[in-house]
Amino acid sequence: MHDSPANHTNEDRHEDVERVLVSSAAIARRVAELAQRIGDDYAHADGRLTVVPVMTGSLLFAADFVRALPQRRLRLQLTTVSSYGGKNTATRGSTLTGSLPKHLEGHHVLILDDILDSGGTLRLLRSEFEARGAASVRACVLLRKKIPSAMSTPCEYVGFDIDDEFVVGYGLDYDDLYRNLPFVGTLRPEARG
Ligand code: 5GP
Ligand code: MG
Repeated sequence: MHDSPANHTNEDRHEDVERVLVSSAAIARRVAELAQRIGDDYAHADGRLTVVPVMTGSLLFAADFVRALPQRRLRLQLTTVSSYGGKNTATRGSTLTGSLPKHLEGHHVLILDDILDSGGTLRLLRSEFEARGAASVRACVLLRKKIPSAMSTPCEYVGFDIDDEFVVGYGLDYDDLYRNLPFVGTLRPEARG
């Protein structure tokens, strides 16, 4: 599932990046696979599927994923949860900073997040959506850290399991930078000023 540096292209570099963990090509392949599999699992839910991307980190993932999903009648409702901020690279607990999707009764909710770390974000959203009468709640993350807190948090769909390092790119930021990189990688120490 992991890609080797041999597959990296010119897109997969930036002067502030130390190491590429997931190349743009590997992301594209995996997002397509996830969309096919999830599309099959939700075949019964056309018209009653609400996809909830967690902003801002899952912006790029969500944009690629919903275009690859076979279901063409779905609702897209954004929510915002803050855990890291600015130059912090350790989570400070999750707080809802945006509004939550409304009218979830009878809808199947699929949460999309960039990365599963402490699990606080998914636990918070899952309980909110269940309390609001969703027919079902599942989660899909592009990345999951190989640490106990993440591996033990329920999550139905995972793109890549990665080592416990602070990563940027494909939606993930450091001090609001690097979200636009098409790949996922670690930062050089000098870039973490
Ligand atoms: P959790 O709530 O599971 O602790 O963390 C989820 C959120 O923390 C992610 O959506 C992301 O915003 C942030 N986060 C966790 N690990 C990383 C990381 O390695 N890099 C960046 N940029 N953000 C992270
Ligand atoms: Mg986030």
